[in-house]
Amino acid sequence: MTTTDTQTSYLPEGMPLPAPSADGLDSEFWEAARRHELVVQRCTACGTFQFGPEWLCNGCRSFDLAWHRVSGRGRIYSWERVWYPVHPALQGKLPYLVVLVELPDAGNVRMVGNLLGDPEQTVEIGAEVEAVFEDHPLEQVTLVQWQRVG
Ligand SMILES: [Zn+2]
Repeated sequence: MTTTDTQTSYLPEGMPLPAPSADGLDSEFWEAARRHELVVQRCTACGTFQFGPEWLCNGCRSFDLAWHRVSGRGRIYSWERVWYPVHPALQGKLPYLVVLVELPDAGNVRMVGNLLGDPEQTVEIGAEVEAVFEDHPLEQVTLVQWQRVG
């Protein structure tokens, strides 16, 4: 995993940050991100990994779920270059890249994020990526972004 040591944000100024859910379901994910660790849920009963967080296991319906730290390495399962400003803060900040990242060390669960770097770079399905932790100290939130490996 890589740590960003600058105050730069991939999100443009004025863009709302994602926030933990009010019911606490994903609080461990956000707390781990602040420690620069990536975690996904894993069922204690049957071992199934899942993401995003849910109250019960998709495999066996057990409520006995735990959080499992993963390496932060993944591969691009799908991606999109976004050209339409879905929020006013994105005017003039286009395009940007959204990736669906598959985590081989967590049962191939997938996470959505941004791919850092040149927004017009060539993106290949299956390319290796790693998690990057983007701290927002004022908001006490750390975002998980992705960057190409190598
Ligand atoms: Zn299960």
